[in-house]
Amino acid sequence: MTDPVDLKAIEEHRKNPFKIAQAQLQEANKYLKLAPGTLATLMEPLRELHVTLPVRMDDGKVKVFKGFRVQYNDARGPNKGGIRFHPDETIDTVRALAAWMTWKTAVVDIPLGGGKGGIICDPKSLSTGELERLSRQYVRQVGRIIGLDKDVPAPDVYTTPQIMAWMMDEYYWQKGFNEPGAFTGKPLEVGGSQGRGDATARGGIYCTREALKLLGMPQDKNTYAIQGFGNAGQHAAVLMKELLGESNKLVAVSDSKGGVYNEAGFEPQHLLEHKMATGSVVGFPGAKPISNAELLELKVDVIFPSALENVITGDNAPRIKAKISCELANGPTTPDGDSILCAQKTFVIPDFLANAGGVTVSYFEQVQNGANYFWSIEEVHERLDTKMTKAFHDVYAAHKQYECNMRIAAYIVAVRRVARAMEIRGWV
Ligand code: GLU
Repeated sequence: MTDPVDLKAIEEHRKNPFKIAQAQLQEANKYLKLAPGTLATLMEPLRELHVTLPVRMDDGKVKVFKGFRVQYNDARGPNKGGIRFHPDETIDTVRALAAWMTWKTAVVDIPLGGGKGGIICDPKSLSTGELERLSRQYVRQVGRIIGLDKDVPAPDVYTTPQIMAWMMDEYYWQKGFNEPGAFTGKPLEVGGSQGRGDATARGGIYCTREALKLLGMPQDKNTYAIQGFGNAGQHAAVLMKELLGESNKLVAVSDSKGGVYNEAGFEPQHLLEHKMATGSVVGFPGAKPISNAELLELKVDVIFPSALENVITGDNAPRIKAKISCELANGPTTPDGDSILCAQKTFVIPDFLANAGGVTVSYFEQVQNGANYFWSIEEVHERLDTKMTKAFHDVYAAHKQYECNMRIAAYIVAVRRVARAMEIRGWV
């Protein structure tokens, strides 16, 4: 008798973000044909630190949290990447995100490697004081592997400029001197950069603009839907109109509590005000309710998956009708989802290209911190546009040359750069 098949384990394996990241790399290697030692090195993080974080809560008791920092690969420069605070955080999610950061910094060709951090916690249930103590405790633990020339954290899901300010400050007390460039995404008052706040979304809209041109679609007559109304999604809602034309129509938006649909279109600012007042877009006056899953299947020109991983899979991909999927989230599409999108000719702007604007302006922040001289918002926007447009066309050229999908093309461009750096340094 054979053992019963554990369907749950198979499903978990299929959706494990690190397994997915590794599978994507192996797929790209069919074209890259890296030396076996080079591939094997790129399949794993170079270093990782697992930490235990005792934090005094407001009720006087100590609660113990778990956290991680993964330094995936720093052959092209110091590790770089955000820190997530999320109840479902796992080491494999952080590993995947750190791998994607490595490819992200390489695809936009900035001299940095890839890292990621995470704490298993529900930030929505913590008071401001608890959040500050948890953030500082994390730096007490990971501070030893952080630094301008080692590893530079930034905000990510549920972490904010204020959290970066606490972390940068704790690092200052640890070191005994100011090293503002060791954290990016800081508030302007303590060394942040102009234009960092909306940079992730802005980079994605620059890519969307280029995709619309290539597909022969107008810039300003598109309908669009946004899944996830956090930092990336909120700014994308506004910038799709501001940068590409006010007549672009936002017909649906969702967040973790649900979504809203209006065929006549929303004014993004009104949705933002409603979310500020109520904590969600749900219940926006005059709109029909829509689920996160339904939103992705709407017949619109562009969808922006801007929340978490694994929302477009083999199950729902056949029902996706958008012409363009601009992935502002990290890892929203599984490999089986990808194959279907590719076969039905949905134009995917893959995550680590589409959302690279954030880390690009983080890099600008570091450069400005190093010079202790700050640029105007216009300079930031212009330099970001140059970087994103070049990266988009590098990836598109690989997509044409190798006749592969845009994600694998992005891997080809990025992984080749990292592999080359490892070879020149003599690592492999
Ligand atoms: N967390 C963002 C990302 O996933 C930004 C990282 C950074 O600025 O270092 O790209």
